[in-house]
Amino acid sequence: ELARQISVNSANSPLKLFTQAKTTITQIFKNIASYVDYSNKFLEEVSNADKNLITDDKYKDIQQLNDKVNRILSVISRDHMKVVFFGRTSNGKSTTVNAMLRERILPVGMGHTTNCFLQIEGTDEAEAYVLTPESDEPKSVSSLGSISNALSREKLDSDSLVKILWPKEKCRLIRDDVILVDSPGIDVSANLDQWIENHCLDADVFVLVISAEATITVAEKKFLHNVAQRLSNPNIFILMNRWDATAYEPESVESVRQQHLDRGLEFLCDELKLCDRKQASEHRMFFISAREALLSRNKDPTASPRSGFNEGYQERLEEFSKFEHEFEECISKTAIQTKFEQHTNRGKEIIASLRETTANVCNKSQILKQESVQKLTEMDEKNSFLEHELRAMTESAKEKIRHISEDVYKRVAQTLND
Ligand code: GDP
Repeated sequence: ELARQISVNSANSPLKLFTQAKTTITQIFKNIASYVDYSNKFLEEVSNADKNLITDDKYKDIQQLNDKVNRILSVISRDHMKVVFFGRTSNGKSTTVNAMLRERILPVGMGHTTNCFLQIEGTDEAEAYVLTPESDEPKSVSSLGSISNALSREKLDSDSLVKILWPKEKCRLIRDDVILVDSPGIDVSANLDQWIENHCLDADVFVLVISAEATITVAEKKFLHNVAQRLSNPNIFILMNRWDATAYEPESVESVRQQHLDRGLEFLCDELKLCDRKQASEHRMFFISAREALLSRNKDPTASPRSGFNEGYQERLEEFSKFEHEFEECISKTAIQTKFEQHTNRGKEIIASLRETTANVCNKSQILKQESVQKLTEMDEKNSFLEHELRAMTESAKEKIRHISEDVYKRVAQTLND
C-alpha cells in the first residue's frame, strides 16, 4: 500500500511544478530570443536606411539583448531546488538523505562522519562520479565504499564542498532538479557564518535533523538564527529522528513527543517568528525514523520483511512520507518564486525595452512622414499658384497680342485705304 502511495505521490509530486515552470519559462525565453533576433534585424535595416531614426547607443543596447537572453537561458537550464541538511554528528542526516533518495548514496555509520559539505546533484552520465575541491578531475565511484574511500583519502576542511554527481535516471528527486547538501556535524565546525555565506544563501529549504534522544542544541539554534538574519523568512523543517527508539518505552512516547514539540515550536514560532504554532506543528515538525524509512525503501531482498523494523513502524513511515510531501511542496513553491520571479522580471524588462525602442522608431518615422507630406502639400500649393499666375500671364499676353495685332491691322488697312 505504501509503495503504491509513494508511486502515486511521485507522479503527482509538487516537484513537477518546478520542472513544468522551468520548461515553460525556457519556452518563453526562446520566444523572446526569436523576437529579439527579429527586432535586431529590423532595427539594423532601419539604422542603415536612416541614421536619424535610432541613436547609436540605443542600437548597441538592443544588439546586446541577444547575449543577455542567451545568458538567462543558460542560467535557467542550471536552476534547481536546493535543500541543506544540518544537525549534530550522528543524528542521522546522511541516513535521512539516503532515505529520501531511496538509495544508500551517502556513507553512513557510527564510524563515518561527514567532515565536509557533501552535495548530491544530477548528471546525465550513466555512471556516478565525485568532484573534490582540490582537482577538476572527476573521480569515478562504482560503489558506495569507494565514495567513502575517496573522501577519507582527501584532506578536507569542514567548509569545503565535495560534489557527488549521481545519474539522474536512477533517482526521482535528483531527476526533478533537487540538489541535496549534507553538512558536517554542527558541533564540529566553528565558523557557522562562513558556512552560511558559502553554502546556504541559495538554499530554498533547511532541514534540521535532531536525535529524539537529545534536544535542540545551542549551536543548532545559533546556526538557524544566523540563517534567519541573512535570508528573510527561511523555510525550516525539524525532523525528530530515531523515533523508533520510543518503541522501547511506549508508556512515555506521548509525553516525550509533547516536550519535543513544545521546544521546537517555541524556537520556530516564538524565537525565530517564522510561522504560527498550528502551521509549524502540522507542516514543519515530524517524528520519524530515517533508519526504518531507508530500510523500507532499500530493502535487502534476503532479509525477512519485518527485520530491522521496531513496533509501530508504519506510523513513522507515514510520517516520513508526510514530511517528504510537505518538503516537496515547500521547496518547489519557494524555488519557483525566488528563481523564476527574477527571470520573469528580466524578461519583462527586455520586452519593454524592445517595445519602447521600436515604438520610438515608429513615432520618429511617423513624424518624418508627416513633415514630408506637409512639404509636398506646400509645394503643391506653390505649384498651383504658379500655374495660375502663368495662366493669367499667358491670357493677358494673348489679349495684348490680339490688341496689338488688331491695332496694326487697323493701321495697315487705314494706310492702304489712304
Ligand atoms: P549523520 O552523522 O548525522 O549523517 O548520521 P548518520 O546518518 O551517519 O547516522 C549515524 C548512525 O545513526 C548510523 O549508524 C545510522 O544507522 C544511525 N541512525 C540514523 N537514523 C536512525 C534512526 O532513525 N534510528 C536509529 N535507531 N538509528 C539511526
